[in-house]
Amino acid sequence: MKKPPLIWLNLFIFIGSALIALVGAPMWAYQVGFSGIEIGVFVAFILMSGLSITAGYHRLWSHKAYQANPVVRFVFALGGALALQNSALHWSSDHRRHHKHVDDNEKDPYSAKMGFFYSHIGWMIREYHSQIYHDYSNCKDLKKDKIVQWQHKHYLKLAFFMNILLPMIIGYFTGSVLGMLILAGVTRLFLVHHSTFFINSLAHIWGRQPYTARNTAMDNDLLALLTFGEGYHNFHHIFEYDYRNGIRWYQFDPTKWLIWALSKVGLANKLRRTPQERIEAAKAKMQLQRQTELARKLGDQSLLEVLEAEYEVLVERLTAYYQAKREKLGKDSQQKLAQLKQALQQQQQLWRQLQLQLPQRA
Ligand SMILES: [Zn+2]
Ligand SMILES: [Zn+2]
Repeated sequence: MKKPPLIWLNLFIFIGSALIALVGAPMWAYQVGFSGIEIGVFVAFILMSGLSITAGYHRLWSHKAYQANPVVRFVFALGGALALQNSALHWSSDHRRHHKHVDDNEKDPYSAKMGFFYSHIGWMIREYHSQIYHDYSNCKDLKKDKIVQWQHKHYLKLAFFMNILLPMIIGYFTGSVLGMLILAGVTRLFLVHHSTFFINSLAHIWGRQPYTARNTAMDNDLLALLTFGEGYHNFHHIFEYDYRNGIRWYQFDPTKWLIWALSKVGLANKLRRTPQERIEAAKAKMQLQRQTELARKLGDQSLLEVLEAEYEVLVERLTAYYQAKREKLGKDSQQKLAQLKQALQQQQQLWRQLQLQLPQRA
C-alpha cells in the first residue's frame, strides 16, 4: 500500500530540534557554556509548556475535568503555543478521538496498535488523517471558549513568537541570543515534545493495568515523573473526566497539585473526582478477572462461584459505605457509618485473602 505524503514542516521541526538538542546543545555547553539565567529560563519554559499541555490542553480542554479562570486559560494558551503541539482545539479534537476509539487503527489518530514509532511520532509526519484534519465537530463546546478560538486563529504567529522570538529577545537582554535560543528554545522543545509523545507510545506499551484491561493504556510511575503526572494512563483511560491521574498521595502528579492549588486561590473550580467506590470496584473487577482465569485453569467450579459471590458483596459494601460517607449523616448516624465501614473492611480482608490463596494453588 502506498504511504500518504510526508508533512515536510513537521519533519523539519522534529529532525531539526533533535539535532540541535542532541548535538548542538552539548557542543555549545562544551565550547561556550550555559549561564544560570539560560538554565533558569530553560526550566521555566519546560514548566510553562509542559503544564499547559497537561493541565490545559489535556485535563481542562480535552476532558473538562475542571473549570478555569480566563487568566489561567490565557496562560495555558500561550504555553500551548510554546509547546508547539498544534492549537488547543486541534489537540483536543484528536485526543477525544483517541479516547473514544482507543486502539482502533482506523479511528484512533495515534493508535498504539500501530506500533511504537507510529504512536510516538509517525502519525504526525505523514498525512494519515487529512480527511478529518479540520473536523472539529467533537469539540463544539470549545468553540464557545473565546481564548481557545483566539489561540486557534493565531496559532502559527503565536508559536513562532513564543519559540523563536521570545527566547531571542530574552537572550538579547541577558547575554546570548543564540545560547538562549538553543537551550530554552529548541532543546526545551525537543524534551517536552518527546515526553508528551511518550504518553501515546510508551504509556500504551509499558506498565501495569490495575483498573482495566479493555484497552492498551498502562500505569507507569517512571513515565509519570517525566510527564507531570500523566503516566497513570490506565486510570486515566477508564476515568478520563477525573482531574487527577495519580490518585494516591504518594503518586507523582504535579498537574493534579497545580489544579488543586489553583482551586484553593479561586482560579479553578468544579474539580471532578470519580467516586471512590467506583475506583475500588474497578480494581476488584480486574482482580476478579485474573482470579477467574486461574480458577478456570484449575477447573475449580466451586471456587469460581465463591469469587463471583464475594465480589458482589464487596461492591455492595463499597457502595453502601462511600455513599453514606458522602451524605454526611447526622450524629446518630455516625454509628451506622462505623458499622458500614467495619463490614466493608471485613469484606476487603476476605477479598485480599482470596487473592493470596489462588496463585499458590495454581
Ligand atoms: Zn491514551
Ligand atoms: Zn486523556
